[in-house]
Amino acid sequence: MKILHTKLELRRAMEAFRKKQEGVTGLVPTMGYLHNGHRSLMEQARKECDFVMVNIFVNPLQFNDEGDFQSYPIDHERDAAICEAAGVDLLFIPDVEEMLGNQKPQIILTSPALTSVLCGPGRPGHFEGVMLIVSRLFHIFAPERAYFGMKDFQQYTIIRRMVDDLGFPVKVIGCATVREEDGLAMSSRNVRLSIEDRSHAILIYRALMLGKKSHEEGERNSATLIEVMKDVIHSGSKNRVEYLQIVQPDTLQPLEILTPGQPFVIATAVFCDNVRLIDNILVNQS
Ligand code: AMP
Repeated sequence: MKILHTKLELRRAMEAFRKKQEGVTGLVPTMGYLHNGHRSLMEQARKECDFVMVNIFVNPLQFNDEGDFQSYPIDHERDAAICEAAGVDLLFIPDVEEMLGNQKPQIILTSPALTSVLCGPGRPGHFEGVMLIVSRLFHIFAPERAYFGMKDFQQYTIIRRMVDDLGFPVKVIGCATVREEDGLAMSSRNVRLSIEDRSHAILIYRALMLGKKSHEEGERNSATLIEVMKDVIHSGSKNRVEYLQIVQPDTLQPLEILTPGQPFVIATAVFCDNVRLIDNILVNQS
């Protein structure tokens, strides 16, 4: 596995690959501190692509909280070992200057409908920062396929739409959420949870599953389902729900009454003590 740090090195490596063989390239963009959730994206890419590329970049543009950015966990050595074991061909780890240069971007990608909902209000500028970096990565790597986790469902939806609207020649692949044994969605932020926090954090997934079950048993009213789920999450005294909504998967707009068989997403962000966790489940999706 090659580990590269500059765009020039990356361009040369890509040219060399394309000269040597025709084949499908796949990109897995990450912020590092890799876990089995990231690994599942790499493994799917490995199955479907001839050349698998992973990017590690903690993108300052997508953090609206400086403290959160500064304390984001980093361990490149461990990450490189995980990539190697997953059969990755190329790992790109640029620094901030290499990735962003030193001028503040003046072009902003946004989507009033998709970025102003769910995580949007709590994280102003976040998705704009994500779109800027991901579009830059698509230009630099020019992958045929790009792998995103459905754990960040809003991000996945926004990227798919960005690719459609801006005509990027890349296929966006959504990968299922990987969970800990107790159901907590894997996240690089989970290391910040104390043992006590953790026992409260697991209530998030339990609540989502209860919402799904109540719907399957006949509850059609979103407001009722939301109340039941919030009660479960708030039964952990460390938990504070930022939002919990039931939305249409492509538009992310709230659904008030659920018709039988209709696909929907239950999406939530919860502060467990001071760690912000997100999770969602997709229901009735074929
Ligand atoms: P991050 O490093 O948090 O930016 O995540 C990089 C990619 O991994 C994103 O597409 C995430 O959605 C995905 N990802 C993170 N956690 C998980 C998980 N538990 N299961 C599946 N994908 C994940």
